[in-house]
Amino acid sequence: MNSAAVYPPLYAPAANPFSNIPGYEGIGGGGFLPPPIPLQPVAPPQPGPTPEELNIPALSEDAAREAFKDYVQSHCCYSSGPANEGVITSIESHNTYRLRLETFTECRSTEMAEKPYEGETADFYAQPAPRPWDVEVKTPNLFTKHTEEIRVPYTSSIKECNVCHGVGTVSCKDCEGKGYKPCKYCNGSGQKEDGNCSDCNGTGKDRCSKCNAQGKTKCETCNGRKQLLTFIKLKVEWTNNEDNHVVEQSSGLKADKLQSVKGKELFKISQIMVYPLYGFPNPAITEASDRLIKEHQSKYAQTSRILQQRQTVDLIPITKVNYKWKNNIHVFYVYGNENKVNAEDYPATCCCVIL
Ligand SMILES: [Zn+2]
Ligand SMILES: [Zn+2]
Ligand SMILES: [Zn+2]
Repeated sequence: MNSAAVYPPLYAPAANPFSNIPGYEGIGGGGFLPPPIPLQPVAPPQPGPTPEELNIPALSEDAAREAFKDYVQSHCCYSSGPANEGVITSIESHNTYRLRLETFTECRSTEMAEKPYEGETADFYAQPAPRPWDVEVKTPNLFTKHTEEIRVPYTSSIKECNVCHGVGTVSCKDCEGKGYKPCKYCNGSGQKEDGNCSDCNGTGKDRCSKCNAQGKTKCETCNGRKQLLTFIKLKVEWTNNEDNHVVEQSSGLKADKLQSVKGKELFKISQIMVYPLYGFPNPAITEASDRLIKEHQSKYAQTSRILQQRQTVDLIPITKVNYKWKNNIHVFYVYGNENKVNAEDYPATCCCVIL
């Protein structure tokens, strides 16, 4: 037997009144909404400009020692001897490139929502609702995380508040609707050893301040308005997805130290879709550019709309300094425009590290 033919229906109608609106069939199921097929990029691939100056000279001995001393001073358990008296034996420059790819995406999802009814127009079905990706939303600043929640036009309807059943108030939780609580000095008896309880004048009752002795409080769900507006809520999220690739170099300083320092910007381009940096002087950058662009395409194009990409190449200065302290050779690195220092084999730490 076909249940659709039975009247009254055997089953309650679907809880989702929007399930037959084009573009919102799966609402409530959660998850992202795939964007419409993107337009193909119109600009042809362009070769990146060739940076002119590819080297940053090593720091001077004085500058390197200054950075080293500041670093040691900021570590309470490093004694200053090696930084002050260590003899610098060699200074080497080991600059490297860092590629950064940013993909700025817009994600849209929908859910059913409700709010206290405050006089909004109940426009459900007044016109067909725009599909999720057709709802007009102003794009925020590029490459900046932002979220926007929007009531989808022509999806709003009014219903009685299901929590207070259209009354606007609910029974007070504090006093269980009585308007008073038992007096806590006499446990509600009104009596104490020496006669009537003076705190409640012998009534045994303590006025409920939460509900002003009314026994009921405003319904939070409808904010006392008795009715709710139900609608489809569109959530729009803009995200800047960033990946870095630091080219391996031979100094011995680990690449993860170089993810976030500042460098000398050699190249920066911002387009709807960027292209691999073919012809860049360092082939590892071309390779990384090609790989990251493909990764971002496969990661983000299915679930979101790519609004803009930005590709940046920085040259990051690394100065490797070898120095002698008590007949042993040690090393420290100064890197980034900030002159950050890394000295993992610092030879003179004091007592405070006892495990
Ligand atoms: Zn009392
Ligand atoms: Zn109360
Ligand atoms: Zn209510």
